[in-house]
Amino acid sequence: MRMDDSQSRPARAPGRRIPRRRRSTFFGAALASVALATLTTGSTTLSIATRASAGPTAAPGESLLEPCRIPAALGVQMSEGLPTPPGYAHSTGIVRALTLMIDFPDAVGPGSALSRYKEFFPQTSDWFRNASYGRLDYRAEAPIPDWLRMPKAFTAYGIERGSPYEPGYHRLVQDVIAAAGSKVNFSKYDLVNVLVTPNAGPSALDTVLSVTFSGNEDAPYADGVPLSNTSFVYSRQDDGSGSYGETGYRVLPHENGHVFGLPDLYTPQGGGAVGHWDIMSEDWGANNDMLGWHKWKLGWLDNSQVSCATGSGATQYALTPLATEGGPKLVFVPVTKDNGYAIEVRTQAGNDEAVCKPGVLIYRVDAKVDTGRGPVNVSDSHPATGGCTRSPNVNAELSDAPYTTGETFVDKANGVRIAVTGVDGMGNYHVRVTRS
Ligand SMILES: [Zn+2]
Repeated sequence: MRMDDSQSRPARAPGRRIPRRRRSTFFGAALASVALATLTTGSTTLSIATRASAGPTAAPGESLLEPCRIPAALGVQMSEGLPTPPGYAHSTGIVRALTLMIDFPDAVGPGSALSRYKEFFPQTSDWFRNASYGRLDYRAEAPIPDWLRMPKAFTAYGIERGSPYEPGYHRLVQDVIAAAGSKVNFSKYDLVNVLVTPNAGPSALDTVLSVTFSGNEDAPYADGVPLSNTSFVYSRQDDGSGSYGETGYRVLPHENGHVFGLPDLYTPQGGGAVGHWDIMSEDWGANNDMLGWHKWKLGWLDNSQVSCATGSGATQYALTPLATEGGPKLVFVPVTKDNGYAIEVRTQAGNDEAVCKPGVLIYRVDAKVDTGRGPVNVSDSHPATGGCTRSPNVNAELSDAPYTTGETFVDKANGVRIAVTGVDGMGNYHVRVTRS
């Protein structure tokens, strides 16, 4: 229930330039404001949001999936549970992203504002199109092609790591609204990106300030709508390897993931819980995709592409690689009403450019665990091997986590066995789930 995650940032690992980051979501949802009331300085009211929630909704005949729709727990700021609560941006169809570039009297934007814009677009739109199989049509718009100059120095706003929704952020958002003035109609957009001039604040190698207000009903209003789904991107996530031009944009799809209701998957110990298997875990380094669980939560997988493994005994399932469109993608094995195991196939394709060992990824999803606390944990088929990737800024240990033919995952305590029984000529993986 922290509003800032000053304790939940990775330590720098020896020999690797892993960024320190704070990627907090100040408010996960309207409900979260109850639990967080004691931490806020502003007014904290429980308001019932009315906008459409992200993700699929139950349809008649979908009752077989019900045990697998682990629900979000009360008091969890941002949960993996289904459905995503109201207040977040919708994650399918046309999503209009107002994108503003801002600078400060003490940090004047170098070069043109549009060059800052081009660090993120069209790559971010392409990333979402690939990840969603074309279901999210992300349309970035920059109606003001110049830097919006803030009235005060950057330092005057007191933006720093670990800062909760303090008055400085309110002032900054108010000043962004005032600077945009009549040139922008905020009510036309589904989310807002504020691309801060990269010379304001510390280098991303020292601290990542990028942050998202999501589902926040306390947000300042503009043109009659709350700016509750707003991502701020600071600095440049440039590790000096020369790959910034290809992968530097990836902080934005991560931040926008919060706007769609997704929690952070890295923990105070870093990316060791999920590794490079989801952009909400690691957004530095080589391109990577999202977990199948997230794709279901966001409405990018149909219910017909998901199987719920509730029955006792053995059941066989076929799965097509997550990166390709169509076919069965996800098996979920509910363990309690709050958590269970997800099963999917990951290959080097689509957004998953760094996959070095294709196979069946198995991970535990827990809807009771909050953002940044490890709501997802990937099971490593080969622990303590050091992994197979040599890509910088990619968690190496979990890179060889997928299970392959002949390998079996066992959770004795809960009577769950998941065996990979083969790969057919079409590249489909076959798994057998046994519950006792
Ligand atoms: Zn984050």
